Amino acid sequence: MPLYEYRCGQCEKQFEASQSLYARVEDTECPFCLARQATRLMSLFSSNVVGDRKPGFSELKAKAMHEERMRSFAKLPPVNVALNMPPPDAASEPDSAPTEGSIS
Ligand SMILES: [Zn+2]
Repeated sequence: MPLYEYRCGQCEKQFEASQSLYARVEDTECPFCLARQATRLMSLFSSNVVGDRKPGFSELKAKAMHEERMRSFAKLPPVNVALNMPPPDAASEPDSAPTEGSIS
């Protein structure tokens, strides 16, 4: 369930309430004064905290593992690069099959 931030219109305190998406703002009761005059706030603050926080240990470890994996891939020789990438003028060359057939 999403967590919403509200501000009470009666006592002007802010509180959080976990509600369903279909809960109406006017049914939200202030936990301090029990007034139903709350207005829903955009929770920009909490999303900013998530975005700006420093990466945790597990994220750093995952990044290090990813970089190590890319290094090991870089050591490998390229596989079939020449076969997969024919020269750009290969298609414009005349077909040599009839010539070879006439020789035999
Ligand atoms: Zn209140």
